[in-house]
Formats: sequence, structure tokens, C-alpha cells
Amino acid sequence: MSDMLIRHASAVLTGLSGTAARAEGSDLRVRKGRIVEMGSLRPEPGEQQVDASGCVVYPAWVNTHHHLFQSLLKGDPAGLNATLSPWLLATPMRLRPRMSEHDFRLAARIGLVELALSGCGTVADHNYHYFPGMPYDSSAILFEEAARLGLRFVLCRGGGTLARQPGDELPPAARPETLDAFLQDVGRLVREFHDPAADSMQRVVMAPTTPPHSMRPEEMREAARVGRALGLRLHSHLSETVHYQDTVQRQHGLRPVELCERIGWLGPDVWFAHLVKLDPEEIALLGRTGTGIAHCPQSNGRLGSGIAPVRALEAAGSPVSIGVDGAASNEAADMISEIHAAWLMARARDGQDAVAQVRGGAGEGDSAATTVEDVVRWGTAGGARVLGLGAVGTLAPGQAADIAIYGLDRDPRYFGLHDPAIAPVASGGRADLRHLFVAGREIVRDGAMPGMDLIELGRQSRDAVRALLQRNA
Ligand SMILES: [Zn+2]
Repeated sequence: MSDMLIRHASAVLTGLSGTAARAEGSDLRVRKGRIVEMGSLRPEPGEQQVDASGCVVYPAWVNTHHHLFQSLLKGDPAGLNATLSPWLLATPMRLRPRMSEHDFRLAARIGLVELALSGCGTVADHNYHYFPGMPYDSSAILFEEAARLGLRFVLCRGGGTLARQPGDELPPAARPETLDAFLQDVGRLVREFHDPAADSMQRVVMAPTTPPHSMRPEEMREAARVGRALGLRLHSHLSETVHYQDTVQRQHGLRPVELCERIGWLGPDVWFAHLVKLDPEEIALLGRTGTGIAHCPQSNGRLGSGIAPVRALEAAGSPVSIGVDGAASNEAADMISEIHAAWLMARARDGQDAVAQVRGGAGEGDSAATTVEDVVRWGTAGGARVLGLGAVGTLAPGQAADIAIYGLDRDPRYFGLHDPAIAPVASGGRADLRHLFVAGREIVRDGAMPGMDLIELGRQSRDAVRALLQRNA
């Protein structure tokens, strides 16, 4: 359904800012996978029509941080009530080495399907489990699974040269790579998969797992140099909890963002997941260099990490995007839940920081400054910006036809709502996704993906979890 007219939408949010956040008309014309016209449009002969009456139209979401392998590790009791460091040991580091190729592929499929059913069209996955002699190509599996579903996919090639687990005799699957092997594999992935186009379906990103723990500073500097020489963007984790502040201060006598400045890991081609714990100097430095954030509010809440200062970062000059993070620390790894949480948490953080006038503060001030339009922009255009995918993330003539259409006419949660445009985000919960298009191709219709048997996928997931736990016992 590449040539079509989407008609009669109750509202269209564009992902743009200011008055451009809402489109004036209710119709969009698509030709050869691109939006060619918007407004109040008449059908043309032979054109397929998509009736969007009773619906709102958004850009398809852009998820900028995930670990798809964790889709089989949700709600693990060993890590459920832990903070980041003990959770890492209890859940992903304990269970990931036990996962078979079949488990990995199944986990990727579950995560991608969950995202697509929330209206997500582009997924950046931070895949970080690589080791010498790894018996299967997990990078290729991720590209294959995303392509099968028709989603845009950005592989953030993680891993590193330092072991995170203590002990001299590490099991093979916990051993680090050499820098040469790491960089050679990035080069291979670029040759096999990377397309630098603004509407690319496949990208590769240089992404050692985390600066303080994955590589020595000189190796991080070399990874940045090689990545930039290959035309890649750079991604990593940073300052997810106070642990980062303690570690980097003790190791280097610096703040984490200052360390990144020293090793060449700041700039408009870099984005970090989390950035929860930042000093004001670090916010200014990130903003001044145009370094972006993948804000992951649900995972940050689930792990007790805190609430990232996203409004302050944006005001300083940092592009803001949204990531669901892995499902081992976010049991609702879908974009509607995440964007809803981003809206509430940004406002909650500002309210938490407010000081009464009788205590010398400004009162409520601008505690409710973050709007639904803001978080929609973060989850769409902001994501496209940090990924460097200029042709996606916004609805405008010339842009790729990555479009999510949500129904509001058969769920009581939307009944009585004065402004339909905000409904899927403001009301939260499972949205009623009528259509998802990526490059004009229909990926979801009426909440289902053609050829995808969810009952069967659920059965396979239960079998895989059972086998994984038995293997681990
Ligand atoms: Zn992460």
C-alpha cells in the first residue's frame, strides 16, 4: 500500500515543535514510501484510501536505546528489587551467557513485535554481549529479524575489552574481546549492513557498552576515532546512577561527562543512554557540545536510578530522545508506555524541585512545563536526530511515510477527552494501533501483524524461559 491517501484524522501531530507540532489539515498523501502532500486533500483516481476518522495520526516512534535479548528476562525475581549494579549481576550477566541462538532470536522477535504494536518504526538496539569464538552472529540475527518485520534497525555494536565480572578464570562467554577484534567486527558490520542514507533501513553505530567499565580511556579514544572515520555515530551508557560518579571520580578524578570530553566522546554525533545523575557543569558541557540523550524513564524508575534532567538538558542544547531500555529492567518495553512515563516524570521532577515562596523559592513556577507535544517530539524527531536519520521522525512533505494511526473510538479511556491529539500519550496504557506504516509499507493493521501468530510466540517464549532456567540451575 505504497500509494495512498490517509483521510479524515481527528488530529495529526507532526513531531515538530511550536505551532508546527499540529498539522492544519487531516489528510496525508503518500507516494513511493514518502509523504508528498498534507492538508485537506481530495482522493485521486486509483489511489488507495485509509479511513482515519475517529483516529489520531503520529509519526512512527523512534526508540533510541534497547537491549532486545532481554525480552526473555522480564521480571526475574533475582533482580526485581535491585538497583543497577546488583541487578546487572543478578539478571542480564547471569542469564545472557546461557541463552542459545534460538533464545536470542526469539527474544529479539518478541521485543521488536512489542515495539511495532505500540507504533514504533525505528529501533536502535545496544547489543553488547560479544566474546571470542562466539558461535553465532547475533548482529546479523538482529538485522534479519527487524527486516522480516519491515522495521528500520540501528545496531549499536557494544561490548568491550575489559571484563565486568570479577575472577581470573572467566567462562568463555564472559571473556572480553581485544580492541583489534572489536574494531574489525565493526568494520565487517559496516561493510555488510551500514547504509548512511537519511532514510536508511540499516545502520551501524560504534557503541562500547560504557566508558568507565568497557574499555581503557585510550581504547575508547581509538574507538571514537575509528567510528568517525567510518562515518558512524557513537553511543554508550553514561551516568545511569551515582555509581558512575563514584567510579569515575576514584579512577580519574573527574566527573563522568568530563572523562568523556577527555576521550573524544562528546559531540552532535554522540548520544548516551540515561544521563540521570549529572552536575550542572556536566549539563552545560553536554548541551554546549550538542551531545544527545536516550531518556529511559521506566527503566530508571524500575532500577531506582532517578529521573534524568531532560528539560535542563534540552534547554542547554542537547537533543532529547526516548529509549525503552531492555525488558529485564522495563516490563513494558513499548513506546506508548515509555512516552507516557516521560511526560509524567518530567513534570514530576520539576514539581519535586519546586520550592515554596515562604521557603525562599519561586512557588509552583513552571513545574508543569513539559507538554504532550514535547514528549511526542522527543520520541519521534528527537530520536531521528540522535540517530542521524533526517528523513524520519516527522510528518511533513518529503519525509518518509513512517506513520502510526491510533483509534480513539472504541476504548472508554478516551471517551470524554477534550483534545483527541494528545489521547494515546496522555491516557497511556495499551493504545489501539489501527495502522503502522514504515516507508509506506503496512507493518500493523488493526493491532495485528500479518503472519505473526502471537499465541504461538507466547508459547515459544514460555518454553524458552523454562529451558533457560533449567539450564541455569
Ligand atoms: Zn541500556
